[in-house]
Amino acid sequence: MSMLESILSPRSCRNCRVCCGFTREDIWEIPLIYKENRTSVEKMLGVGLVPRGKEFVFDMDFNSNGVSYCPALSENGCTLGELKPFDCAVWPFRVNALGDMRVITVSPVCETVFSLPLKTLSDFVRKDGFAEKMFTEAHMHPDIVKPYIGGYPILAVEKDI
Ligand code: SF4
Repeated sequence: MSMLESILSPRSCRNCRVCCGFTREDIWEIPLIYKENRTSVEKMLGVGLVPRGKEFVFDMDFNSNGVSYCPALSENGCTLGELKPFDCAVWPFRVNALGDMRVITVSPVCETVFSLPLKTLSDFVRKDGFAEKMFTEAHMHPDIVKPYIGGYPILAVEKDI
């Protein structure tokens, strides 16, 4: 069961996949493949990864419309299984840097999750250690922390957890 299954059904994801496509503007959102998984992912997909910070990302090949789909995406969704990046496992939630704080936000790009009441989302991130897991992951892999984008709802602040 995915970490988000109580608020986002696998069927919704299969019918959407917006989070697996990227434009040049959202290249910063391409999921990080941790360095310990680099070789396995390269072998599985037959593609090379390029460094980003201390981790790696797919080298995206943008089509004439400026869009690139993740090479791990298939008709049936993500093919990476256990190697699915943490960024993807928790998307549309993100750890963002806001001043000297780390906060958990939700991206409006995922219409299914974003349409839920903020109280539901706030309760979700506080339930079952989800927020702690995200902040712990951010300490182990600080490259997953992205700058805060103004207007994104803040669901949790690290010091409050
Ligand atoms: S790794 Fe999987 S879930 Fe993440 S963007 Fe690629 S296909 Fe989508």
